Amino acid sequence: MTNASQDRTINLLDFDRAGLAAWFESLGEKPFRATQVLKWIHQYGVDDFGAMTNLSRALRERLAAVAQIRGPRLAGQQVSADGSRKWLFELDDGNCIESVYIPEADRATLCVSSQVGCTLNCSFCSTARQGFNRNLTTAEIIGQLWQAARLLAADPAAPRPVSNVVMMGMGEPLLNFDNVVRAMDLMQDDFAYALSKRRVTLSTAGVVPGLRELGKVSDVSLALSLHAPDDALRNELVPLNRRYPIGEVLDACRDYVGEGRRRVTVEYVMLDGINDSDAQARALVKLLRRLPSKVNLIPFNPFPDTLYRRSSQARIDRFRDILHNAGIVTITRRPRGDDIDAACGQLAGEFRDRTRRREQRLVQLAGGKA
Ligand code: SAH
Repeated sequence: MTNASQDRTINLLDFDRAGLAAWFESLGEKPFRATQVLKWIHQYGVDDFGAMTNLSRALRERLAAVAQIRGPRLAGQQVSADGSRKWLFELDDGNCIESVYIPEADRATLCVSSQVGCTLNCSFCSTARQGFNRNLTTAEIIGQLWQAARLLAADPAAPRPVSNVVMMGMGEPLLNFDNVVRAMDLMQDDFAYALSKRRVTLSTAGVVPGLRELGKVSDVSLALSLHAPDDALRNELVPLNRRYPIGEVLDACRDYVGEGRRRVTVEYVMLDGINDSDAQARALVKLLRRLPSKVNLIPFNPFPDTLYRRSSQARIDRFRDILHNAGIVTITRRPRGDDIDAACGQLAGEFRDRTRRREQRLVQLAGGKA
C-alpha cells in the first residue's frame, strides 16, 4: 500500500445514502452529489473517481484526494460443480472472510458474512471452531456484494447477477447491528442495489434485544436458526439459548413480522439421532403454532472433527411430512457448493489453516510461541 492511499482514509463504501449526503455537505458540496456517486459506486461498480463523468473535473480530483472506494480484495475463488462460487476476500488487516454465490433457475443468492468468525459457538457449525476476531465494517459487508457484482459482470460465463442477499455467512449479524443495518439499507436503496425487502434476509440465532431493535429500523425478511424444539436440546446446540430461550425468541420473531402475511423462515439443521425424531417433529409443529413461519430443513454439512452426522434422506423426508401434514410449508434445502466447503456451516473450514499459519508466522515474527 502506498503512503498516498494510506492517507486517504475515508472509504466511501462505509456510507449509506444519508451518510454520504452528510459527508458531501461537510465538504461544502451539494447533497445530491451523494446519489450520483452512490450510483457510480454501487450500480456501475466504479472504484475510480476519474470515471464519474457527471462530476466536474475539479470535484473528481478533490474526491480522489480525500477519499477512496475500496472493497475487500479477492484472494481466491472456488467454483462448485453445481455452479456455486465461494469467494475468499482478504481484508486490510489480513483477516479473511468468505461469501458464497448460489445461482438458481429464477434467482441468484449471495450469502454474506457479518463478522470475522463468530462468538456464539454453536456445536454443529464450523465457523465456531475459528473463534471470533472482530466485527466487519459497513464497507466490508456491502463490499462483498459490491465485489460479487463486479466479478459477475466481468465474467461472461457467470450465470446471472445477484438478486437476493442472505446474511447467513460467517458471524451473527445482530451482534454487529449498526454496520449490518447500514449495509442492508444500501442493498435496498434505489440508488444502490434496489433489492426489495423480500430479497434481503437476515438470519439470527435469536439475539432478542437485536430483534427488537431491528423491528424499529428495518423490515428485511427474517430467518431464525432454531434447530431444536425444546430448550434443553437447544441449550446444547445453540448456547445462546441459555440467555434467550425459545419462548422469548419466538415472541420477538412474531412481533417482528407483525400481523400481516409475512412469515419467518425457521432454519432447522438435520442431525442424525439428535433432533430428527417423529416426536421432535411433532413438538416443532406445536411450537410453531405461535409463529407465522415456514421451515427450511438443512441437511447437516459435515466438517473435519465433528461428531455429528447428517440425518438419512428417509428421516428428513419423514420429518418434512409431519410438518407438512400439519400445514407448515416445509422445504429441504439442497446442499449447494458442498464440494468446495461452501455449504451452510462450512465457511472458514477450507482456509482456516491458512489463516492460522499466517497467525503462527506473525507470532513467530513477534518472538512469541505459536
Ligand atoms: N448466526 C446466524 C447467521 C449464520 S447463518 C444464524 O445463526 O442464523 C448460517 C446457517 O447455517 C444457520 O442456520 C446455521 O445454523 C446453519 N448451519 C451452521 N452449521 C451448519 C452445518 N454444519 N450444516 C448445516 N447448516 C449449518
